[in-house]
Amino acid sequence: MLRETVFYARRPRRGVKWYAHTACSLMLAIALNPAWVPLALIGSTLPDAVERILGAKHRSMHELMLWLPLLPLLATGYGGLALGAIHHVLLDALTAHGVTVAGRRIRGPFSTSRPLDNLAAILLHLPILLLL
Ligand SMILES: [Zn+2]
Repeated sequence: MLRETVFYARRPRRGVKWYAHTACSLMLAIALNPAWVPLALIGSTLPDAVERILGAKHRSMHELMLWLPLLPLLATGYGGLALGAIHHVLLDALTAHGVTVAGRRIRGPFSTSRPLDNLAAILLHLPILLLL
């Protein structure tokens, strides 16, 4: 059991890297509402953190419908949390492993084991920061 746990912990995670999630949510929060930045940073890793806390398999809680109930928070001072968490799932939808939306898997072309793909994810958000 311990050996399996160690093996699982050392396996590469298939999601977008945490720095890309954090950087993208940071740019969105700055563009939309700078007061959201602290909670957006927390929300940007929330889906993965919840899985780890619950001991759930990676991506098992990356079902978009689990996170959409946070949308009403966008009208409150906690909007950053919703922004970060929902954006996390949407960004992971760009990866080859993808996420599920109402049980249907959505995939993208990105391989998160390649740093350039993570950089591309960050750069895709730059126009949003510059335009808003
Ligand atoms: Zn993730």
